[in-house]
Amino acid sequence: MSSETLKELGEFGFIQKIRHAAPPLLEDVLVGIGDDAAALKNTGLVTVVTTDMLVEGVHFDIRYAPLQMVGYKLVSVNVSDCCAMNAQPAHFLVSLAASSKYELPALNALYEGIYKACARYKIDVIGGDTNTAVSGLTLSGTCIGYASAGKIVTRGGAQVHDLLCVTGNLGGAYAGLTLLEREKRIFLENSNIQPDLSRYPYIVERQLKPEARVDIVAFFEKARIQPTAMLDISDGLANEVLHLCKSSRKGCVIFENRLPLHEETAAFLEEVRIAPLIAQLNGGEDYELLFSVPPQDYDKIKDDPRITVIGYITEEGAGCKLHLKSGEEIDLEMKGYNAFSENFMPII
Ligand SMILES: [Mg+2]
Repeated sequence: MSSETLKELGEFGFIQKIRHAAPPLLEDVLVGIGDDAAALKNTGLVTVVTTDMLVEGVHFDIRYAPLQMVGYKLVSVNVSDCCAMNAQPAHFLVSLAASSKYELPALNALYEGIYKACARYKIDVIGGDTNTAVSGLTLSGTCIGYASAGKIVTRGGAQVHDLLCVTGNLGGAYAGLTLLEREKRIFLENSNIQPDLSRYPYIVERQLKPEARVDIVAFFEKARIQPTAMLDISDGLANEVLHLCKSSRKGCVIFENRLPLHEETAAFLEEVRIAPLIAQLNGGEDYELLFSVPPQDYDKIKDDPRITVIGYITEEGAGCKLHLKSGEEIDLEMKGYNAFSENFMPII
């Protein structure tokens, strides 16, 4: 049984297996996983829907990414987009196509990670699709979330003088990817040398098992903060700042000395001689939130260790500027992570 493939078990058998692992959690689910479609009761709230894929060889490398973590990350990246709309995630759908090299224990491990993340975010799996593929593993997640009308935040509402803020810290996931790629290369050159990741547990986890900021959405609700614009930092801070400013038709100034950096990220980047600013601005996959709030909200955020003010919004004509530690001011440029470019892609 343990070496059964998806083909042998069949999709129905596989669904029977996985549906028992995750009963619906939320009351608005009338019909959950296992029927032709899920049925949700209309709650009267605004519904947010977002989808994101993870493709083997493009977004993850199973030579160092355990499948539990790939499953966890699939949920986190989708939940993160839901949070970026200031909505509460509620339901998740997962579709996958797996080649025959993925036997059932591997797929079970993947689902273990998916369910672990869903339990963490208090969301339920209400459907999906499972297929065999000619090669590799392709995953697609869809997250459905809710918010009351008027709470939804787009990228396009920033106003002049608003404060630009980020959650958490930046560059950690990129540092983690750089470390994992380095250790993989060393292992491929000499399989007697075992990868040593023990010195940098934080950045490895930032890359392999990111967390979405559901806590910040809850904080906004509690503190009665309504961001004017928001998005999640999946493609590097520079890209996201430029997206926010373009959608809002505004400019901005951000300050190098305000960009948050975790001490472990700093230590690793120093070891490999990469300037922290590069990782912070252009490294992808931090899944933190970038948002703008009116200046009068400053008192509500200033003492929260999860939030850092990194700059402010200006008139569109002023452009998007980065104020360096040296005192020099330069234009922010779009150079970040792009799934379709060669930059930052795992070397396979
Ligand atoms: Mg996003």
